[in-house]
Amino acid sequence: MSEHFDLLVRGATVVTPAGLIVTDIAVSEGKIARIGPGIDAAAAEIVDAQGLHVIAGIIDSHVHFNEPGRTEWEGVETGSNSLAAGGGTAFFDMPLNSLPPVTDAANLAKKLEAASKVARTDFAIWGGLVPGNADQLEGMRDAGAIGFKAFMCNSGVDEFPAADAATLRVGMKRAAALDMMVAVHAEDETLARMRTAQMHALGTDVRSFLKSRPVELELAAIRTAVDIAGETGCALHIVHVSSPDGVALASEAKTQGVNVSIETCPHYLLLTEEDVVRLGAPAKCFPPLRPEALRAGLWREVESGSIDTIGSDHSPAPPSMKRSSDFFAIWGGISGCQHGFELLITEALARRPVEVVLPQLSALLSANVAKRFGIDHLKGRVAVGLDADLTLLDLKGERKLSNADLLYRHRQGPYDGRISRARVDRTIVRGRTVYAKGRIAPGAPTGHFIRPR
Ligand SMILES: [Zn+2]
Repeated sequence: MSEHFDLLVRGATVVTPAGLIVTDIAVSEGKIARIGPGIDAAAAEIVDAQGLHVIAGIIDSHVHFNEPGRTEWEGVETGSNSLAAGGGTAFFDMPLNSLPPVTDAANLAKKLEAASKVARTDFAIWGGLVPGNADQLEGMRDAGAIGFKAFMCNSGVDEFPAADAATLRVGMKRAAALDMMVAVHAEDETLARMRTAQMHALGTDVRSFLKSRPVELELAAIRTAVDIAGETGCALHIVHVSSPDGVALASEAKTQGVNVSIETCPHYLLLTEEDVVRLGAPAKCFPPLRPEALRAGLWREVESGSIDTIGSDHSPAPPSMKRSSDFFAIWGGISGCQHGFELLITEALARRPVEVVLPQLSALLSANVAKRFGIDHLKGRVAVGLDADLTLLDLKGERKLSNADLLYRHRQGPYDGRISRARVDRTIVRGRTVYAKGRIAPGAPTGHFIRPR
């Protein structure tokens, strides 16, 4: 044989569309060229992956890396390095918290320029839907936006105002005509304001905060969003659904023909409101973590296939913003893109066998994301012709996670001390190792901008 590949990954147990198989994967020019056992060919690089499991590279459709403008909160370089260490091969950066926010094509171009220089993994860019910018959606679509994100409540930053029902209606109508998706942060602003005022008057502690954001806020917002999606025919993605009732509401809309997908995050499956009480600021997020019964219920929704995608919602802030005697004043956002996914897999493996867990989670973390966002011609599966984005997992043994190992700009997160049984051994983006054996690969970052179909 005179065949010559750039990379051969040998002997791993690979999660393929056809199930788990022990096989080799050959890579040529960044693409998966062949899948089969005992490939007899030369290769510039050979990775012995016997005993490891391989899933399609994790596509994190929900991060806030905050560049440009608030790079001191995270930035694309540390953010994408952390994601690579956590098994991620691509991220979709949210439009807010960066300055300027991505609310028009010119601002998208600024983020694209900044991210292109330092992204370790591939990436896509979310546009924003805010009051008054409906005319900008087409320009952002043409510039390559992956979708449009709206906040149904206060976003936490003044320059990205909440979208009321009228803004959503106009925006979704326009997005539908452009064949683009609208994603919403679903918490009802009127209820949020009312409950926050009530509870804050009674106390500024963590439990008062938790009581200020009950599930009802999420349910009210989901009702509004699916109604408008139904009216306008717009594809809707509900980010970080935190409760089984929220999933049920959106699922019901689905059965009635509304084009809606449901995302949740590792933290809603790994942590509860008691962890917010125990850990404080690192576990504060919106919507907040929920009681144990709801966490258990959310796992059942994952396992029954009712949830479409899982994203980290990695949302860091400088330590100064994670400190206050008033818990309501602390920045809400969990840093989780490095340790969240392996802990999610660990938890799932404690519940069900590996042959069930890996195909299902791989769908939620990769294939479904690629399909929903129109990049499945490039990514999302271990299949010939697609980008060679691979996450190699070592499911043997266990290790204790430490915040000291975090590659975030600020080493804060809620998983310090947790036990992982799904160590990320290596992360490969388009055939190039970006992370292996605890280290970011040397060399300049080579992340590519991903445009949806
Ligand atoms: Zn978010």
